[in-house]
Amino acid sequence: MKKMFRLTGLLSAMLLPSISTAQQGVELPALKQEATADVDGLQTLTQQMVDEIFSFSELGFQEVETSRYVTGILEKNGFHVERGVAGIPTAWVATYGSGKPVIAFITDVDCIPRASQKPGVAYHAPIIEGAPGHGEGHNSGMAVNVTAALVLKKLMDKHHLAGTIRLIPGVAEELLGTKAFYVRAGLFKDADIVLGAHVSHQFATTYATGEGIWSGLVSVQYFFHGKAAHAAARPWEGRSALDAVSLMNAGWEFRREHLRLQQRSHYIVLNGGDQPNVVPSEAAVWYYFRELDYPHIKELYELGDTMAQAATMMTGTTVDHHLVGSAWPPFFNKVIAEAQQKNIEAVGMPKWSDADQTLAKALQKEIAAKVEGLKEKVEPFSEPAKNPAGGGSDDVGDISWNVPMVYLMYPANIPNLPGHSWANGVAMATPIAHKGSTAGAKVQALTALDFLLQPELVNQAWDYFRNVQTKEIHYETFLSAEDKPAIEMNKEKMEKFAPQLKKFYYDPTRYKTYLEQLGTQYPTVKAQP
Ligand SMILES: [Zn+2]
Repeated sequence: MKKMFRLTGLLSAMLLPSISTAQQGVELPALKQEATADVDGLQTLTQQMVDEIFSFSELGFQEVETSRYVTGILEKNGFHVERGVAGIPTAWVATYGSGKPVIAFITDVDCIPRASQKPGVAYHAPIIEGAPGHGEGHNSGMAVNVTAALVLKKLMDKHHLAGTIRLIPGVAEELLGTKAFYVRAGLFKDADIVLGAHVSHQFATTYATGEGIWSGLVSVQYFFHGKAAHAAARPWEGRSALDAVSLMNAGWEFRREHLRLQQRSHYIVLNGGDQPNVVPSEAAVWYYFRELDYPHIKELYELGDTMAQAATMMTGTTVDHHLVGSAWPPFFNKVIAEAQQKNIEAVGMPKWSDADQTLAKALQKEIAAKVEGLKEKVEPFSEPAKNPAGGGSDDVGDISWNVPMVYLMYPANIPNLPGHSWANGVAMATPIAHKGSTAGAKVQALTALDFLLQPELVNQAWDYFRNVQTKEIHYETFLSAEDKPAIEMNKEKMEKFAPQLKKFYYDPTRYKTYLEQLGTQYPTVKAQP
């Protein structure tokens, strides 16, 4: 891995003179002004992408309509699209331009189970009861990155700028299911920098492990196999796979007291058998093992395997396990983050209307969160946490250990929400998400221009990557050679809900906005008592 990095660095160093000549005579500040105006000019398309992907509401690995729609827009605009990359049907790579630097954009596209919600309504009101929905706001990311990419393409053509723009979807981020496979498939091997974007209630970026940024993890399913028998007539002939699940969980709960405080581990029972009078021959449990670094995550993973083995010994069953996701804790590049912060400050927060603030405050009140409306100021550059305590995860972490990367947080949602729920979907097809995505697209375009026009910045980013970030820590994948992307996941759920969701797909040829199509008054809030 390390050798490959050196080679890439060498290559970009060799190509430096040609980049500078190609980009000569174009002033960066003027280009940035042009980019900002061009993003504003695409506001209607940005809004349509936010609304359309919101209406598709597709779960991880089943982002079929989303992929078809986004790649269609990119192809129509001259991007070359390769589909089904890394053995994942809904993954793709879209490319425009040629030569160095190669700037890759990535953002998530999948949604959350049971998070269906009418946008613009400040209380729980599902579009379809029990259906998936964008209760994390991943519907806005492609609007951000595609808008930025279309603007960059136009500027590259007009001003004859060398460089390659590449877009990749964060398929199945909610399952931490793809980025390690993307890395293994070499999707980033010639990338110079990666600009990730993620929805937030704030406008912010950070470097290193950041403030409150995530743990890494492995997500593992244990399938126990026993022997069926009549549970009353001949129980002694059976061996219960469910007993093994119960004992593994009990073992884990006792052991939890003696684990580091930084760990987070949780499980759900995937299969507990069919009916009580049949000794369950099959049962399964799904664990997330989270920790702060590779060795500790690996340790938890091995402990999980030990617990599973021990449970089989106690119950006379067997087990096999299936890794369905993995993620390194992210580490972001200081050089790119510093450039990005300047662009965040230049772009500034969107101008929220009274209606936007009314929706935000009503939702905060509804869920008993702090009532403070939407943020009005961008966040100051945040320093890395001194003693990270752990928390959520994001599989972009694996990318960030293979190429200099940052993660832009753009302000397209309401503060103080619980995350992964209907409440996080309320603003996601309203002017809050539309304006926030336009602001995010500006920063993505401006930061890309910084690196397209200043090859020395690319070198500085790699210098930080090699000499600070990876000086002592080297990337090792959690994947074994046999591990494959879990592309069957969520299939049944989407087969159940897709026909119902289809009736609510957004039609921009008939309605200006999705709110208009649904006939929702903006904002819809409960009457004050
Ligand atoms: Zn996310």
